[in-house]
Amino acid sequence: MQQITEKSQVIQLIESAGIVGAGGAGFPTHVKLNAELELLIVNAVECEPLLYKDQALLKHETLKIMECLELLVSVLNLQKAIIGVKKKNESLIKKLKPFIEGPIELYLLEDYYPAGDEQVLVYEITGRTIPEGGIPLQVGVAVINVETLYNISQAIVDQPVTTKWVTIGGEVEKPCSLQVPLGISAGELLVDVLGVDLEGKEVIEGGPMMGKPVEDLTVPITKTTSALLVFPRGHPVVNRIKEDFLKTARQARTACIQCSFCSESCPRYLIGHRFKTHLVMRAFGFPVNQGAHLKSAYYCSDCGLCEVVCPSGLSPRAINNFLKMEMSKAKIAREQLNKVQLKAHPQRDYRKMPSKRVKRWLGIVKYDVPAPFKSLKVNPKSVNLPLRQHTGEAAIPKVKAGDEVTKGQLIASIPKGKLGANLYSSIDGIISKVDSQRILIERR
Ligand code: SF4
Ligand code: SF4
Repeated sequence: MQQITEKSQVIQLIESAGIVGAGGAGFPTHVKLNAELELLIVNAVECEPLLYKDQALLKHETLKIMECLELLVSVLNLQKAIIGVKKKNESLIKKLKPFIEGPIELYLLEDYYPAGDEQVLVYEITGRTIPEGGIPLQVGVAVINVETLYNISQAIVDQPVTTKWVTIGGEVEKPCSLQVPLGISAGELLVDVLGVDLEGKEVIEGGPMMGKPVEDLTVPITKTTSALLVFPRGHPVVNRIKEDFLKTARQARTACIQCSFCSESCPRYLIGHRFKTHLVMRAFGFPVNQGAHLKSAYYCSDCGLCEVVCPSGLSPRAINNFLKMEMSKAKIAREQLNKVQLKAHPQRDYRKMPSKRVKRWLGIVKYDVPAPFKSLKVNPKSVNLPLRQHTGEAAIPKVKAGDEVTKGQLIASIPKGKLGANLYSSIDGIISKVDSQRILIERR
C-alpha cells in the first residue's frame, strides 16, 4: 500500500484504476473529485425499492470503506464528509457509529422516494439547491456512491476495478447481494451461477422504478449495473418498463387533465427547480424546437414519481425521456437557467412520497425482503467488456484477439486528453474479439 499524502496522488490512483460513479451514469470519479470541495456526501441511501447492494457492501467492508473516507477527508482537504443513510437501516447505522467522529458525520433520512436522488440528497443534507441542469460542485459538494468509495479503497492498494456489486431480487428463491466479475452476462450469473429458473419470467436491470428491461440475457454486468430483478411475465413492473411508447404518447396527448399533481409532487420542483412537468405535458406534440416548456424536460431525473400520482395513469417521465432524446438529436442544448437563489417549496416536507406507497403502486410488496451479502466465488466462462461503461469517450483497446491476459491487466485506456475511464480484464483468459464497442475474453 502506498503512502498517500497528496490530493494529486489519490486522483491519479482513481484515474488509473478506472473508477466511475457506480450508482448512476458512470461519471469518471477522478474528474469529480479533482475540484475545490467543501463537503463530500457518501450516498448510502439506496432508495430504489428491492436494492440492497450498497448496504450489503458497506456492512461487509465497513473498516476498509471508512478508512478510505478518513483518508479522502484529509487529502482532499474537506471540511466534512457526511454519509446519508435511511433511518430505518438500524443494523447498518450501528456498524457505522464507531467511525463517526470529527469531520465524518452521519445524516439519517426518512424512508421516502427518491431520497437517494443526488440533487434531493444534497438539498436534504445542506439545504442548498443545485441549479437546474447543474451539478453538486456548483454548491461546493461532491456526491459519491458507497461502491465508488469501496473502489477507491481498492485503488489505494493497487487493485483496479474488475468487479461489480449487484443485488439479485424479485421472484427468486433467495434474494442476495454479491460481488461478480465485470462483463459476466446476466444469463450466466442468474441461470448458471445462481440457478434461477427464468421460465415465464422477465429480467429488469436496475431498480423497479428506473431500471430497464433485459431483452437479451447475453447483456453484460457493467460498472454501472446495480441489480438484476426477476419478475413474472406480465407483472406491473415489467409492463410499465416495457410499455409501447406510441401508446404512452397517444394517452399523454388525449388524457392529461392538467391537474398538475405531477408537478406538485415532482422532487425536482419541490427542491426549488423551475420545472413543471404538467406544462411539458401540455406542450407535448409541438415540434421540439417550438413548444415553450419542452426544453425543461431536460431537468427531469427519470425518478417516475409523477406516474405514481397521476390520476389518468400517464407517464410524464416517459414523455420527458422521449423529449430529451429528440432534443439531443436536434442538437437543442440543455441550458442552465438564470443563476438565482432557488428556494425549496414550503410544503416539501409534507409532500415526500413514502417508499411504502411506491412499493404498493408497483405491486412489489411481496418481494420487499432484504437481499443480504452472499459470499460466492464467481468464475465466468467468458466476459464481455464494453469500451464505454461511463460518461465520456470510449476507452482505446490495448490488446488484440489471441492475446493472453490476466485479471487486473489494463486492456483499454482513456483517449489522450478526453473524459473517460480505463478498463481492466476481470478474468484470466484469452482475448477472443476486439471491436469498436467491446473486448471479449474467454476464460483460460
Ligand atoms: S398528473 Fe397526469 S393528468 Fe395531471 S397534469 Fe400531470 S400528467 Fe396530466
Ligand atoms: S420523473 Fe416525474 S417526478 Fe421524477 S423528476 Fe421527472 S417529472 Fe419529476
